[in-house]
Amino acid sequence: MILTFIEHDRGKLNESSLEALTLARRLADDMASRLEVALIGAEARALAEPLAAYGAVRAHLVEHAWLDDYAPDAWAASLAQLMAATSPDVVVAAGSERGNEVMARLAARLDLPLASNCTEVATGQPFRVTRVRWGGSLLEEAHLKGSPALLTVAEHALAAESISKPPEIDVRPFVPTLTEEDMRVRVVRRVEPEREGVSLTDARVVVAGGRGVGSAEGFAALEELAGLLGGAVAASRVATNNGWRPHADQVGQTGARVAPDLYIACGISGAIQHWVGCKAAKHILAINTDPEAPMVTKADYAIIGDLHEVLPAIIQKLKS
Ligand SMILES: Cc1cc2nc3c(=O)[nH]c(=O)nc-3n(C[C@H](O)[C@H](O)[C@H](O)COP(=O)(O)OP(=O)(O)OC[C@H]3O[C@@H](n4cnc5c(N)ncnc54)[C@H](O)[C@@H]3O)c2cc1C
Repeated sequence: MILTFIEHDRGKLNESSLEALTLARRLADDMASRLEVALIGAEARALAEPLAAYGAVRAHLVEHAWLDDYAPDAWAASLAQLMAATSPDVVVAAGSERGNEVMARLAARLDLPLASNCTEVATGQPFRVTRVRWGGSLLEEAHLKGSPALLTVAEHALAAESISKPPEIDVRPFVPTLTEEDMRVRVVRRVEPEREGVSLTDARVVVAGGRGVGSAEGFAALEELAGLLGGAVAASRVATNNGWRPHADQVGQTGARVAPDLYIACGISGAIQHWVGCKAAKHILAINTDPEAPMVTKADYAIIGDLHEVLPAIIQKLKS
């Protein structure tokens, strides 16, 4: 049986889990195995049945009074107990911050190896995996020994695919036993970033600015363009380090990973640490004075010019 850990935040599904579930379904097909899912916390209840559309035949709803919010040790302990009860051959999760964190704790508890951020997996003994290393600058071929096999799927490495004939899904509760020690790491307070309009990770258009924008005030033009396109504004680390934008706006290795339809990179050189955060965009438009900038050479479209002239021109055109 292949068990996929479906991640959510207080009932909001992490879409990367559907990508992980898609890879898990391919593994289940290859291994002639069943596909089951695990969801943690009472707020996940509504998410279970729709997972039949991705081939899941059974959903385990892991419920406990302490599991209402994120607590990585408690989530890992719950998964370990569920694994003991269901004996999966493979456990798959999204290669998100939480997915990797929970799976690493699970691997440590079970003394099993974990292959994180996989883009491809070939079944067999051992499993052969391709995984993303060093923030996306390297693809590593590796063998994953150990049973059950634990792996996470790199975010945006493949598209989530539903199936034409969903099976009946059997939803059943699972109550783990947790101790105070499992709750050492938990959410005690939430501070929501102040953001008006569409969120960065959901936006279909992202207008991002880097050092070339020159100042916090320089982002006004990016805000205006994002507003006209129904998008969100993002930033490179230089822009956030300079205090021009909040850290929540940062895209890249140490920021958000986004996959909009259109990513407009204004005055961003395209360093690998930034590129890994935006490379999943369907289309990239670079606006840069340097025709040799990596962002320009890798983008689908580029405008070579001063963004302080190019952006007002685009805005004026859109308005008219
Ligand atoms: C461990 C580690 C983690 C990191 N994580 C991240 C991360 O998550 N996100 C991230 O972004 N960076 C990250 N970085 C930093 C990264 O290496 C780069 O330093 C950073 O992305 C560069 O930002 P930038 O493109 O805005 O600036 P620069 O590299 O200085 O590029 C500025 C660009 O603007 C162009 N330009 C200048 N003026 C104009 C103008 N008027 N009009 C148009 N174009 C203009 C220039 O030609 C240039 O291409 C990380 C680095 C390390 C070591």
